[in-house]
Amino acid sequence: MITVSEAEQIILSHRKDFGVEYVPFLAARGRVLAENIAADRDLPPYDRVTMDGIAIQYSDYEAGCRTFQIVATQAAGDPPPTELYSSFIIHHSSFIKPCIEVMTGAARSSATDTIIPYEHLHIADGIAHIKHEPVLPGQNVHVQGTDRRKGDTVISAGQIIGPTQINMAAAVGKSELLVKKLPRVVILSSGDELVDVTDTPLPYQIRRSNNYSTYTVLRHYGIEALMLHLPDDLDAIRREVARLQTEFDVIILSGGVSMGKFDYIPQALEDTGVQMHFHKVRQRPGKPFWFGTFGERGVVFALPGNPVSTFMCLHRYVLPWLETSLGFPPAPPACAVLAKSVRFEPQMVYYIQVKLRQDAEARLWAEPLEGRGSGDFANLLDTDAFLELPMDRTEFEAGEVFRVLRFKK
Ligand code: AMP
Ligand code: MG
Repeated sequence: MITVSEAEQIILSHRKDFGVEYVPFLAARGRVLAENIAADRDLPPYDRVTMDGIAIQYSDYEAGCRTFQIVATQAAGDPPPTELYSSFIIHHSSFIKPCIEVMTGAARSSATDTIIPYEHLHIADGIAHIKHEPVLPGQNVHVQGTDRRKGDTVISAGQIIGPTQINMAAAVGKSELLVKKLPRVVILSSGDELVDVTDTPLPYQIRRSNNYSTYTVLRHYGIEALMLHLPDDLDAIRREVARLQTEFDVIILSGGVSMGKFDYIPQALEDTGVQMHFHKVRQRPGKPFWFGTFGERGVVFALPGNPVSTFMCLHRYVLPWLETSLGFPPAPPACAVLAKSVRFEPQMVYYIQVKLRQDAEARLWAEPLEGRGSGDFANLLDTDAFLELPMDRTEFEAGEVFRVLRFKK
């Protein structure tokens, strides 16, 4: 039996590249960007007024002027009324100076340089009087190109598309984004005791569920997996997995990988040409986990059927494989502090279910809530994560720090 870290290494050494594709930017959430996105204009693209108020020439204020004639009102989206401003100067050489009433988002007129907000003004009959000092030169202008220059990379390849990337893509006019292609995934449940969610189980049957949780976890990455069910019948399983190898890159199975009389999955996989890389890992839950590959880029994760085991193996092995294959930015493993001492004797890694709580010093505490084993999927609702307790020890003391696998974000 191999160890958790050996299993992880084998799986990650079989990472695959599924190519790239263009998708509409709004459909790209959760995908990995495969191109650098450049600014098509300066950011901001013009000197942007940042307060509603009036635009003046600072030199007028500096020369002592506190009263300004409003010569035009410029909404955001209006061209700057520079000519009206300039012709006022030509026709009125009096002490009163011109200003432009401007709104946030308007492009600053080149005839003005300083914005005074309404809150600092008294306005009556088209005359604005400054009632709040001082006014600083160039205030309330977001200067063209100060955030990014035209041509600068504003989103770099490898980033995961989320709201801030969508915001930037829209701003620079990228309605389609080149992203890493997703693998084609099929999720196979197995077991003659399992009926579907809409069925009424007989007294000795249950509804299948872990295929749906697996589907939901993958959906987060944008993967729309196909779900199928296999009976406990060697020939039927052989036929189905042989057919699916031609259509899918990833086959995720659950159940049928233990020592039971009807656990046909490993044999059916090998009979149809899937190369086994390991069967069984020193871990609880999830010991019977089986992993193999087929063809150029096909991988098979045959997960134990108990829902907690399936869920743990999905998070510990399938998702890191998927993220590595898609080129996710490497993230150091997350850790948490064990809140209560635990004893675990078997020579295996123990993935103990924990409830997480962050204290005032930002320390993440993991409160063990063990549940009743790998069949107790109700316990997953009361917990947030698995804490990885290493294999080489029996006692785990409160206050020690261990790797944590969060399944609720
Ligand atoms: P197996 O690995 O096939 O021996 O299954 C182990 C346990 O997990 C059995 O109690 C199964 O009924 C249960 N199980 C297997 N597959 C599923 C599934 N898709 N949803 C819920 N429970 C399952
Ligand atoms: Mg079974």
